[in-house]
Amino acid sequence: MAFQETIQFIRDKFSTKEFIPLHAPVFNGNERKYVMDTLDSTFVSSVGAFVDLSEKMMADISQTKKAVAVVNGTAGLQIALQLAGLQRGDEVITQALSFVATANAIHYNGAEPVFLDVDYDTMGLSPKAVSDFLEEFGERREKGTYNKRTGRKISACVPMHTFGFPLHLDDLLKVCKDWNIPIVEDAAESLGSYYKGKHTGSFGQIGVFSFNGNKIVTSGGGGMIVTNDEDLWKLGKHLTTTAKVPHPYEYVHDQIGYNFRMPNLNAALVCAQLEQLQSFLANKRQLAADYAVFFKTQGITFRKELENTQANYWLMCVELENLEERNSFLKATNNSKIMTRPIWQLMYRLPMYQHCFKDGQKNAGYLEERIVNIPSSVRN
Ligand SMILES: *Cc1c(COP(=O)(O)O)cnc(C)c1O
Repeated sequence: MAFQETIQFIRDKFSTKEFIPLHAPVFNGNERKYVMDTLDSTFVSSVGAFVDLSEKMMADISQTKKAVAVVNGTAGLQIALQLAGLQRGDEVITQALSFVATANAIHYNGAEPVFLDVDYDTMGLSPKAVSDFLEEFGERREKGTYNKRTGRKISACVPMHTFGFPLHLDDLLKVCKDWNIPIVEDAAESLGSYYKGKHTGSFGQIGVFSFNGNKIVTSGGGGMIVTNDEDLWKLGKHLTTTAKVPHPYEYVHDQIGYNFRMPNLNAALVCAQLEQLQSFLANKRQLAADYAVFFKTQGITFRKELENTQANYWLMCVELENLEERNSFLKATNNSKIMTRPIWQLMYRLPMYQHCFKDGQKNAGYLEERIVNIPSSVRN
């Protein structure tokens, strides 16, 4: 049968005859202790020591000044875009090759995603695609950059570091600075990933991380907004706590806010998991190195981190030769109880985003037919 050696190799790596998932969490640190602490303290909800501690830890790790813990990464992106100044009817530049949450967060704000191509090497938003789009459609006005075809303001750019591989940040920063467009980094997949020694999520005006169950660090559900701008941080806290104005006993709310704060119960897990981030990263790096050696013998391309970057190897992936090969790889592995999964369908194929602007999508289309994620969990 095809891909038999691959199936055997993965089984050996995970030392099991049972089903092998793509990414399963491990809780071998202080998870139990910290969760019990929240119960003993009765502070299980959105006020508590672990919420504050998780924010401090994430600011430190991501090399930013301030963080806001939120219920999940999607909610974090939704608020981050509002912090960046997005208004209803505006446009936001992003990539079609992403998890659906990126586009949804734009849509929740009443704005329209503009889907541009990714680079082949990073699988993240292509600075050249952004530059080409702006050269063709952008118009500099006093209040910012507008799309001269639609008349809408282009209020933000949301690049995403696919599977934890950092995209070409220097070039993107340059283009966005040129056009005066703030960057909100979707760093949901890139906790522990660095570009030229600096943590992803710290390059844009705002960065957002996720602690969903399948991410490198999990709190069941959760997310984190990070920024170096203290005013945005304060507004972020305000908006995620129902925009309540501090008062000893009265209910005072000065705008429409959200109940998006992370509960202390979940923050306890974040803290315990973040304590193990370095060991998770090292563990995954070893697996990636083993995969790289093995897949070379199979003539299959295993995606490795690029020069000047450090990837977290959150979800590892191979690149098959064509759609047919991809499909037989998916079939052979999944039939053998080894979970593998193709990269996402491009967003403009989904019914709710079919009407959105898209460019040529040369690289995104190529990758869509070839990239497959393989089991990437931290191994005990
Ligand atoms: C996981 C993820 C999110 C959303 O995070 P949740 O915590 O699941 O809401 C957003 N963007 C990308 C690219 C993701 O992978």
